[in-house]
Amino acid sequence: SGYHQAIKENRHLYNILQELRGNIRVFCRIRPILKFEAKSCIEYIGNDGSLMIFDPCKSQNTRKIFQFNKVFGPATTQGEVYKETQSLIRSVMDGYNVCIFAYGQTGAGKTYTMCGSSNGSCEELGINHMALNDLFQISSIREDIKYDIHVQMVEIYNEQVRDLLAEDGANTKLEIMNCSGNGGLSIPNAIIRGVQSTADVLNLMKLGEKNRAFSSTAMNHRSSRSHSVLTVHVHGKDISGNTIRSCLHLVDLAGSERVDKSEVTGDQLKEAQHINKSLSCLGDVITALAQKNSHIPYRNSKLTQLLQNSLGGNAKMLMFAHVSPESDSHGETISTLKFAQRASTVELGAPHQNK
Ligand code: ADP
Repeated sequence: SGYHQAIKENRHLYNILQELRGNIRVFCRIRPILKFEAKSCIEYIGNDGSLMIFDPCKSQNTRKIFQFNKVFGPATTQGEVYKETQSLIRSVMDGYNVCIFAYGQTGAGKTYTMCGSSNGSCEELGINHMALNDLFQISSIREDIKYDIHVQMVEIYNEQVRDLLAEDGANTKLEIMNCSGNGGLSIPNAIIRGVQSTADVLNLMKLGEKNRAFSSTAMNHRSSRSHSVLTVHVHGKDISGNTIRSCLHLVDLAGSERVDKSEVTGDQLKEAQHINKSLSCLGDVITALAQKNSHIPYRNSKLTQLLQNSLGGNAKMLMFAHVSPESDSHGETISTLKFAQRASTVELGAPHQNK
């Protein structure tokens, strides 16, 4: 049909652009519909990275198609998601800087993907856990290189960077520095801990999450209103004394939901403005990188400054755009898909000129 032909042609164009673009990948993950939720408004999920969404309030011809590197439907397992991520993660051990972002509105599944979930007997490991297992495994089996692994964890809240690894919960304010001359550390004053195993890192992450919530009145509120950045620094030395330095950033972004400006004031309005600004700066940086612009606007937000060394150059980036399928979230879902689509350069039109 014309519809499938349109997808096919767009797909071809998309593949060519992907080749040109290099190191930015965008995966979309659709979580399952939860109990008591309204109907799904995501109707079609191709296994070719395309997805179709329609507006449940309008009768027809409201379909929009989006194209990503991959779309993971509601039935996708954590293992299947990790399988598509694994080679990227492993490249950290070969000296590449890698950045993984979890993007999406609160409740769309960011925590589930990155941290997993445990309900009773069945534990579903998240990307973080599986990635760390992989890194430590490589570190233990490579006989030609000796690796040292260190971890930092910070949060960015209202455009301030704070340390999350203080034992006493004092989340000191930090300055971002130019990495050159600091051994590649962009926040040299942040606490840095040597780690030997996945368990070591998970314990530090627990401390970090505790500190992240500590300073807030409403725990869930704060953790969805700040960005957290866990950085795994890898330092390798081979037998002839050659060294590699690289890092893996696991970034849990603040919820991307739009706050209705007429309804919030004071602190919440300030938070919302900071989040909107930093997410849109991130979008601008990614777009500029994808278009290979000569000027990349890193300096416009703390998040992009912090990650500057790991965005662009031969660094690799993966964004997980999380969406909820339920029709009540239609507006937010469209905005997440648009953001993510911007990161992957090509936006596809609807099949019948009805954008
Ligand atoms: P976020 O971190 O974006 O706020 P969560 O990860 O907390 O969202 O997800 C919201 C709810 O949906 C949780 O109850 C979570 O267990 C569930 N959920 C999210 N993604 C999935 C998935 N892929 N499979 C099963 N349940 C999921």
